[in-house]
Amino acid sequence: MDDKTTPSPESEETASEEALTQMSRPSVVAIVGRPNVGKSTLFNKFYGKRKAIVHDLPGVTRDRNTATCSYKDRSFTLIDTGGLDFETEETEEIAFRNQSKKAVSEADLLLFLTDAREGLTPADREVFDFIRSHGKPVYLVVNKTEGNGASQLNDFYQLGVTLYPISAEHNLGLSDLLDALYRDLLPCDTEHEELQMRGAEDCIPKIVVLGRPNVGKSTLVNTLLQEDRMVTGSTPGTTRDAIDTTVLYQGKQYIFIDTAGIRKRGKVIYGVEQYSVGRSKEALNRADIALLLLDGVEGVTEQDTKIAGMILSACRGVILLVNKVDILKEEKKAFLEGQMDRYFPFLKYAKKLEIHYISARTGEGVSEIFEKAQRIYERFSARISTGDLNRFFEKCIDAQPPPTVRSGRRTRLYYITQALTSPPTFIVFSNTLDIPDFYIQYIENRLREKFGFAGVPIRIKLREKKGDADRR
Ligand code: GDP
Ligand code: GDP
Repeated sequence: MDDKTTPSPESEETASEEALTQMSRPSVVAIVGRPNVGKSTLFNKFYGKRKAIVHDLPGVTRDRNTATCSYKDRSFTLIDTGGLDFETEETEEIAFRNQSKKAVSEADLLLFLTDAREGLTPADREVFDFIRSHGKPVYLVVNKTEGNGASQLNDFYQLGVTLYPISAEHNLGLSDLLDALYRDLLPCDTEHEELQMRGAEDCIPKIVVLGRPNVGKSTLVNTLLQEDRMVTGSTPGTTRDAIDTTVLYQGKQYIFIDTAGIRKRGKVIYGVEQYSVGRSKEALNRADIALLLLDGVEGVTEQDTKIAGMILSACRGVILLVNKVDILKEEKKAFLEGQMDRYFPFLKYAKKLEIHYISARTGEGVSEIFEKAQRIYERFSARISTGDLNRFFEKCIDAQPPPTVRSGRRTRLYYITQALTSPPTFIVFSNTLDIPDFYIQYIENRLREKFGFAGVPIRIKLREKKGDADRR
């Protein structure tokens, strides 16, 4: 296929890049402070309702709770950390402390919570020095200031930063605090209406791990959620006992769907498929991206192609993961890639780019999954401006005009617009619906090249629009 449309002026390239990155993630706000200052109470007030801490995955959610909160037209991810206590040396406290330190380094904004009734303690000063050293905006929030609690406030002025007196329990000072916080929150999406419609959580990539039995799904999920990545919370999925797990990796959040189902599967008797097709479909429908896990040693099987078909018809982003690279012979890779080309229809959009070799057991290649998923998600949920699209579209048509249709009439393509995101869905307005598939495929290929849609399904629909010449 000719390539005349690919080169384009630099400014246009920049504009479409900008369009693709407009969808930024919500700010991460962490509440930090000594135990008992009222962090959980404040968390619940901001969240607006009581949120149960889910203890389903031992050792990962016990000390941490997250919620997506909205204020005016912005949303943020709130993390309630475990206590930051620099004095105690108990092992459990040390674990809490390590988790809290991670929260501080991963958050964008820090609410440093203190207790007016206890005044400014040496431990508070230590925590304050620690969190200030990260150079992030810190809000000094003094809690429990209702009644005569306010009399201790003088102490806190010594810290030399703006002070926000509140009473979490009695709802005092919370809106002033939120107003101040609001100024530092990232706009999550320039199209607020759409954001509100879809819910703030839609700024976080949702990922599902799929594969036939014994390819290594539960090993992978355990590696993905391993200790040193910050697991920030769990929320129930729609299926009974499904648990979604939120992970913060290098400042970005990811939701892994139905992790409990997959983990449990790991314990199931060899060869018995209990993780039902229905359950996989349900998980896939809620996901943006599927990780299709293959066993590199065994190669592609019929069952793998069925799962691939499921992903294709659900129209999700995809990353092909070839597992067990630790015991895979180098020579086998070319053979496997040939198999994948043959058997996986979506390779036309996943391309070799999205075939990734990993070892779920040793962890090799596993952290790159996050970066790949992020990149696919950005494209999957991006909206390209109609201006950028049509500058592209004009060149695309000039380089290869549409064929004359059967009736002998000249085909006119008027313009293109993106109607939906996730997956990106484009509508081409034309004077006829009689346009051959190969031409639609040509437009798709050009769109993929221009806007970087590797690993992302896109849809193109035709809509008929009568031009002046046709009406006469
Ligand atoms: P955390 O350990 O920092 O998460 O603290 P909690 O939220 O569990 O609160 C510790 C204690 O402080 C609880 O008994 C709360 O009821 C109490 N508390 C929280 N906020 C206030 C407040 O505004 N005023 C008063 N007087 N007590 C509060
Ligand atoms: P699942 O049924 O897809 O959840 O698969 P499991 O995670 O239970 O793994 C099936 C088998 O493959 C187990 O014996 C794992 O130890 C093994 N396995 C998983 N990942 C790897 C890997 O990266 N390398 C090797 N050599 N074995 C692995």
